[in-house]
Amino acid sequence: MPVPLLDLKLQYRALKTELDAALIRVASSQALILGPDVDALERDCAAYLGVKHAIGVSSGTDALVMAMMALNIGPGDEVITPTFSFFATAGAVVRVGATPVFVDVDPITMNVSPDAIAAAITPRTKAIVPVHLFGQSADMDAIMAIANEHGIPVVEDAAQAIGTQYKDGRRVGSIGLMGCFSFYPTKNLGAFGDAGLMTTNDDALAIKLKQLRNHGMEPRYYHSFVGGNFRIDAIQAAVLNVKLPHLASWHEGRRRNAAIYDRLFAEADLPVVTPINAYAASGFPDVHIYNQYTIVVDGRDALRAHLQSAGIGTEVYYPVPFHRQECFRDVPSSRNAFPVSDHLAARVLSLPIFPELQPEQLEEVVATIAEYLRTTTA
Ligand SMILES: *Cc1c(COP(=O)(O)O)cnc(C)c1O
Repeated sequence: MPVPLLDLKLQYRALKTELDAALIRVASSQALILGPDVDALERDCAAYLGVKHAIGVSSGTDALVMAMMALNIGPGDEVITPTFSFFATAGAVVRVGATPVFVDVDPITMNVSPDAIAAAITPRTKAIVPVHLFGQSADMDAIMAIANEHGIPVVEDAAQAIGTQYKDGRRVGSIGLMGCFSFYPTKNLGAFGDAGLMTTNDDALAIKLKQLRNHGMEPRYYHSFVGGNFRIDAIQAAVLNVKLPHLASWHEGRRRNAAIYDRLFAEADLPVVTPINAYAASGFPDVHIYNQYTIVVDGRDALRAHLQSAGIGTEVYYPVPFHRQECFRDVPSSRNAFPVSDHLAARVLSLPIFPELQPEQLEEVVATIAEYLRTTTA
C-alpha cells in the first residue's frame, strides 16, 4: 500500500462541489484581484486568528519581505532568524539589503532558542523573526521579553502555523508586531496556487501594509513610498473561503495521526526521536497543528531511500541550514557554530501526516521503519 507524503486530491474531492462553484463564480464575475472574496477572507482570518487586521498577500515569502519593508529595514540593519528554517525566512532579509543574523535552535522543539536570540542582539538589530516550525509555536514569552527589553519588533514567521495556539491560548501571528502566513498548497490551509496573509494589531501598520501590497499607492496613482505588487488573487481567496471552515477539523485529523505515530513509535521502541509537543499539557485544542510530523533519526538518508522504495513518501525539511547555504557564505554569522541545527539537518525526516491518512497507512510507515532499523542496526 503506497503512502504518499501528501495527497491533495483527497481534500479536493471532498470539497469539489463547493470549490468548483467558487471558481466558476469568480470566473463569471471577472473580478480577479482583491475584491469581495479577499475582504471576506481577511475578515474571517482576523476573527479566527484573534487579530485586529489580516491582509491578504501574494505569498508567505512576500509577506516576510513586506514586513521588512514596512519596518524600513535595509542596508546596515540586522535581523535575527533561526538558521534552521525554510529559505524564505532569511531570503526576505537579504532581499531588502539587510544582514540576517543566524542563531541556533532548541534541540527539543527545533524552534529558535531564546538564549541564542538574546546573545545575538546588537545596536543594529532591527527585528527578530521567530519561526513556528512544523506547526508548533516558538517560545513566545521568552522571545517577547527579550524583544521588549530592547524595543525590537518581532515578526512571526507563521507560514507553517495558521491556527497554532501558544500555550496561553493565543494564536500565533497575534503575539508579535506582525505575523506572516503562507497558503502554499502544502500548508494546513492551502490555496490553488501561491497566496499569503499578514496580521497585525497595529492600525497604522495595517494601513501601511495595504498600501505596500499595491505599490505604495494611495490615492490612485499617487505614491508616497515604493511598495510592490503583493496582491492576492480573488480565485485564491474564494478557494480559501471554502476551505477555512474545515481547517479546525483538518488540524484535528493531523493531531489524531500524530498521536497514532507517537503511540506506534513508543511501542516499537526504536532509536527514533518523535516530535515533542512542548505545550501538550496546556489544554488548548490546536497548540501544535502538525504541518509536519518530523522525526530525528541516525542514518536518515538510507532510511529515506528505503521508504521511497517501499512506496512511502517522506521529505527532508531542511537538509541545509542557512549558515551553510552558498548564497549566505558572506553573511558574517555563517561562520558561527550551530551544533543543534547541524545535528538536525543531518537527521530530520518528515513523515506523511495529512488528515485523510488511514490508521493502517500510519502503521505501515512505522512498521517499515521498524523493520529497516532492526535489520540495519542488528
Ligand atoms: C512556506 C514557508 C514560507 C514561504 O511561503 P510561500 O507562500 O511558499 O512563499 C516562509 N517561511 C516558512 C517557514 C515556510 O514554511
